[in-house]
Amino acid sequence: MLSKLSIAVVGAGITGLWQAFTHARAGHRVRLVERSSEPFSSCASRLAAAMIAPECEAEGAPPIVRDLGRESIALWHKAYPATVVNGTLVVAPPRDGADLTRFEQMTERHEVVAAQRIAKLEPDLAGRFERGLFYPDEAHVVATEALRWLLSEGRALGVTTEFGQPYKPNGEDVTIDCRGIGARQDIPSLRGVRGERILIQSRELGLSRPVRLLHPRQSIYIVPQGDGRYVIGASLLEREDDIPMTVKSALDLLGSAYALHPAFGEASILDMGAGIRPAFPDNIPRAIIEDGGKTIRVNGTYRHGFLLAPALAKAVSGFLSDGRRDSPLFDSPGA
Ligand SMILES: Cc1cc2nc3c(=O)[nH]c(=O)nc-3n(C[C@H](O)[C@H](O)[C@H](O)COP(=O)(O)OP(=O)(O)OC[C@H]3O[C@@H](n4cnc5c(N)ncnc54)[C@H](O)[C@@H]3O)c2cc1C
Repeated sequence: MLSKLSIAVVGAGITGLWQAFTHARAGHRVRLVERSSEPFSSCASRLAAAMIAPECEAEGAPPIVRDLGRESIALWHKAYPATVVNGTLVVAPPRDGADLTRFEQMTERHEVVAAQRIAKLEPDLAGRFERGLFYPDEAHVVATEALRWLLSEGRALGVTTEFGQPYKPNGEDVTIDCRGIGARQDIPSLRGVRGERILIQSRELGLSRPVRLLHPRQSIYIVPQGDGRYVIGASLLEREDDIPMTVKSALDLLGSAYALHPAFGEASILDMGAGIRPAFPDNIPRAIIEDGGKTIRVNGTYRHGFLLAPALAKAVSGFLSDGRRDSPLFDSPGA
């Protein structure tokens, strides 16, 4: 492979921004093309709760997601100063203790916590839960701030950006397609999984880390965004329409937040939104190499775009430097 390449990255969501940032930092000439004129206005990434939670996600995801996610936490932490690494707290009401036990059995690197420790970790939850799980190594970021930071860092590293433009090849050595669900015509096995989330603001509660409330029907998470704002998420629906949030989803999410703490009942609703997560049938992302390496399609991050974008960029970077395909992301079947 050439040592310095010209690269077109198509799509400025979390996947494309991490690709552009990583390859510009490696000294390549990068052009980032995004079809929406307003940055982040039509990507799924802007809606994410942006948890970087490899341990908790291992409850329902294969080990590759956990392992690459662990690698990504270090990459986030090294690159982005506003990465918050203060863990995740998982709780369940006493009647759902079996769910907590299962969650504990399916995951690693946690501490079983009792009421006193929960109160110490999150004073506003004092007296509300008898038992929980604490994952001290997990991280989170604020999605829109991280997206903005990656874009401006990329530009500072020399990435040229074209917003509101349809992608036209310009003789680049490599095109990296990061169009999310917008790439479906070229990747037939890609599907969309709808996710809805609510942004609220509470003057009464001060949670300092993501809190997951387990429930047999609708588990939720609440992720602090600073200034009393919290993302409550998320629905997970095998549908691709991007109509506004449904009443049922709003009731489920808000009802669960209220069950976590009734003071959420006094919070203001700032925004409700729905986005389409791009996913392969097994919900594991891929970097698909085509045209002898001239086109690389990086897609299918499902509910793990923030968790896995840095590891995906690192894997593609290895391939660009010496043709290496040692990451399992290149090998997964079924793409
Ligand atoms: C409610 C919700 C909560 C979530 N929470 C988390 C979380 O806590 N942690 C986590 O890791 N993940 C989370 N996710 C998942 C994460 O948001 C996705 O995995 C991620 O956004 C996918 O990123 P992407 O860059 O591949 O796609 P997108 O963010 O959709 O970006 C694709 C971009 O490509 C552009 N595009 C499309 N077609 C073209 C074209 N022809 N030319 C140019 N540009 C084009 C689009 O306009 C868009 O800007 C969540 C998702 C949702 C919906």
